[in-house]
Amino acid sequence: MGGVIGIEGRKDAAGLVHVGLLTLQHRGQESCGIAVKEKGKDVFNYFTVNGLVLGKFTGDVLEKLKGENAVGHVRYPTSGSKSGILDAQPFIFKSAHGNIAIALSGNIINTTEVRDKLAKEGAIFQHSSETELIVHLIAREKLPIENALKKALAKIEGGYAAVMLFKNKLIGFRDPRGLRPLVLGKLGKSFVLASESPAVEVLGGHYIRDVKPGELIVVENGKLKSTFYAKPAARQNCIFETVYISRPDTLIRGMSVAQARMAMGAKLALQMKGIKADIVMPVPDSGFFAALGFSKASGIPFEMGFVRNHYMGRSFLRTTQHMREIVAKLKLFPISDIIKGKDIILVDDSIVRGTQSKKIINTLREYGARKIHFAVTSPEIIAPCFYGVNTPSKKELIAATHTHDEIVKEIGVDSLTFITIDNAAEACGGNEGAKGFCSACFTGKYPTKISKSTLEAR
Ligand code: AMP
Ligand code: SF4
Repeated sequence: MGGVIGIEGRKDAAGLVHVGLLTLQHRGQESCGIAVKEKGKDVFNYFTVNGLVLGKFTGDVLEKLKGENAVGHVRYPTSGSKSGILDAQPFIFKSAHGNIAIALSGNIINTTEVRDKLAKEGAIFQHSSETELIVHLIAREKLPIENALKKALAKIEGGYAAVMLFKNKLIGFRDPRGLRPLVLGKLGKSFVLASESPAVEVLGGHYIRDVKPGELIVVENGKLKSTFYAKPAARQNCIFETVYISRPDTLIRGMSVAQARMAMGAKLALQMKGIKADIVMPVPDSGFFAALGFSKASGIPFEMGFVRNHYMGRSFLRTTQHMREIVAKLKLFPISDIIKGKDIILVDDSIVRGTQSKKIINTLREYGARKIHFAVTSPEIIAPCFYGVNTPSKKELIAATHTHDEIVKEIGVDSLTFITIDNAAEACGGNEGAKGFCSACFTGKYPTKISKSTLEAR
């Protein structure tokens, strides 16, 4: 996952990027950073730190981040070393072209091949993350930066979105299938690029459009130039962005994620037409809008049988099994008189390993639920993602290793319904149906080439 934001031509650039990063925090909590450039100077003012954005960019820190162009990043580790401050982005590099600050979310899948080739040619890598590859590839081209970048990007394969500062330019690019999201927005006279539209709107700006697959955007002195570095392949946005990753208020293809999730709930209500229940309830927070859509479509009353504790830190010590059980209970609080004696349709976004779902269903039983029909707004996850979403290996995915009946038994539900891929794609506003989306984690059919060694490593 990971999140990026960039802004050009604002005196308060660092402060704005900081606020934008707060709205992108759900995309990565491992580390964060901001790099800023003052016009006419070829150095960056930057600050990267492990952990959450809130509280790290104090007045003193922001004061030092002077400059009109800024990029920021929140990191979710999908490659590179875990929680190493060296891997916190944006990265700053010197190159023959000039200094570069770059922040990338997603994953480059031919990293090993490209890195080995570059290392043989004498390249020295400072970071374990793959973003550095792009800079090494640019450095090899004796061309103006845009052309060098285009040539470099043509050599890499994957799902990514990135923002970059170079001289007085803000540069943004998105992989040729549009697997990872990137939007273009405007704040006054300044252009903003961000992983999700609320990061623009929170600043008082507005969303213009999604950056197109394979598009390279260069903004300088308030002027935007758009070119393509790859013939745009058929658009294949990650369907899991709508299902789980993105914020409900984010616009994807001009439609809010909340609307798409409600539509998914409505589709599931149709798929489960024969099933009777007293209430529909979500696993908060990501099942919320889908449960609402299910309730509206089916006429079964919506109830909140769980409340989520939003104050649970991630660094809680879980040294014993007893402690782990307590911590799990601290995340979701059941409301007994809503649950007791009810036939329940429980709505959640996905089943990955099945362990969370099993715990939640056990809790519902402990609190007196009669029947539990589980409605899931993603199809069965049967294959790992190589494009920046942290899914476990195939052998850990319950739907890859168990039959439908075995999953029902394992997690302890009375019935289990996964949305179909076509229904999910239609709900996400895909006129072109499932073809318009990547759904590799549900089908095992990857939209890019994946080397045997990469596949075998998972
Ligand atoms: P489980 O029942 O253990 O498979 O957990 C399913 C829950 O994990 C879902 O309801 C999601 O909220 C969450 N989830 C789904 N995908 C991911 C992911 N890539 N990383 C972390 N959590 C996820
Ligand atoms: Fe998204 Fe799944 Fe494709 Fe990964 S494999 S980009 S999670 S749809």
